[in-house]
Amino acid sequence: MSDFLHDCVALLGADQVLTGADCAPYLTDWRGRFTGAARAVLRPANTEQVAAIVRLCASAGVPIVPQGGRTGLVLGSVPDASGQAVVLSLARLNKVRSIDVLNRTVTVEAGCILQQIQEAAAHAGCLFPLSLASEGSCTIGGNLSTNAGGTAVLRYGNTRELCLGLEVVTPQGEVWSGLRGLRKDNTGYDLRDLYIGAEGTLGIITAAVLKLYPQPKAVRVAMVALDTPQQALALLARLQEACGASLTGFELMSRLCLDLVATHFPQLPRPFPKGPAQYVLVELSSSESEAHVTALLESSIGEALAAGLCSDAVVAESQAQSQGLWAVREHISMAQAAAGKNIKHDVSVPISRIGDFIQAAEAALGTAFPGCQVVCFGHLGDGNLHFNVAPAAGASHEAFLSNQAAINRIVHDQVDAHGGSISAEHGIGALKREELQRYKSPVELAIMAAIKQALDPLNIMNPGKVL
Ligand code: FAD
Ligand code: ZN
Repeated sequence: MSDFLHDCVALLGADQVLTGADCAPYLTDWRGRFTGAARAVLRPANTEQVAAIVRLCASAGVPIVPQGGRTGLVLGSVPDASGQAVVLSLARLNKVRSIDVLNRTVTVEAGCILQQIQEAAAHAGCLFPLSLASEGSCTIGGNLSTNAGGTAVLRYGNTRELCLGLEVVTPQGEVWSGLRGLRKDNTGYDLRDLYIGAEGTLGIITAAVLKLYPQPKAVRVAMVALDTPQQALALLARLQEACGASLTGFELMSRLCLDLVATHFPQLPRPFPKGPAQYVLVELSSSESEAHVTALLESSIGEALAAGLCSDAVVAESQAQSQGLWAVREHISMAQAAAGKNIKHDVSVPISRIGDFIQAAEAALGTAFPGCQVVCFGHLGDGNLHFNVAPAAGASHEAFLSNQAAINRIVHDQVDAHGGSISAEHGIGALKREELQRYKSPVELAIMAAIKQALDPLNIMNPGKVL
């Protein structure tokens, strides 16, 4: 055993320093696309141990890959193939430290699973609104480091908006204790915002203070059918006026998405066996009552139908039916995976330009790859689309993947032309590094590189990711 590993064992104990075959579960990304290599997987139990390990790595020049639930989709939390790095798993920092109901905050350690935090909040009669399909596995440290989005951003914002304070271990192994529960704090540069979304390249988040909200009394969902994304935008504006903060979800999906779910998950509800090209799942929440939310949903959808903003609607009559409609939305990715491999994009454009973007991108793809199928769905209320491209019906999915670079170029050029972002939710990781270089301005890239150099001059924090 090397001196370095020996020192790690002295700090953490032999059973928390994994080597050889024991590392395997930590080295492959969620989708199974890439397997890296590591000297060891280190599993500290608390902030002091994280700091001590980082000091050790800094003095030995060993790169560190912070890892939460490993559900990231851009190869950010797995090491490269060199075998030089250690994976630093935050899984054992999993305590909810405290809840302050009056301040509406919860203080949690970075390795807490998102669902665990939702449950702790609910137990205290509060809501922690961050919600992703991976919530049973992802950690809050990963959510903060990727500034995760999800399905409630429209009402509550991204993870960044839900965080008031952080505790961070710097690349030098010092601890910054910024666990403040303040909603107002204008005392110089906002270090918290620097670490959020940094994907582990500037330091290790070990704990956070998060915002809580009152729990809604009732939540109800409807699905509506309409012809175009432009119509969906008009419906969004209408519902925002009619429902205000009660509008908590607005998710777009195409006919193809519904058909894929019906084919691969026939046990799920089938709200529209046939119908027009686009569908929107609308969610309203009420702080009053079941009756209030149902009446608001029925009246606002009724007005939208009368105004010709949509052509048909299914309004859930119970919580179970609401969950059934959400399940349809949440199974689109899995249905598409069951149909074969595809080329994925996680993009955003200004909400007002979504219709134009979809039209332009589909037209450009149709010209270059006749018959290719676009599976487009996402968080329309946030301007965020999952824009996945699959081959023409009957064509080989494997062969189609060889067009990945050309297809990325078409889609991302259209995103750029419409004033958008090539990564709305999932981050950059190792997967989109080159795309970042292409689409960010030289000034922006230089500022990012200067921050990285200032905070991590040895370049030991997740090297090869983001920049
Ligand atoms: P990991 O994958 O372990 O790590 C992600 C990045 O953060 C890596 O760069 C890692 O180095 C870094 N990191 C992790 N922990 C720390 C820490 N404590 N300190 C510093 N750096 C750290 N994402 C969305 O935004 N919205 C969605 O709706 C969504 N849906 C998803 C659905 C499914 C089924 C899956 C598999 C993924 C989905 N994702 C979504 C992506 C993913 O779940 C999120 O990016 C999530 O925030 C990652 O958390 P994690 O704990 O798994 O992080
Ligand atoms: Zn998403």
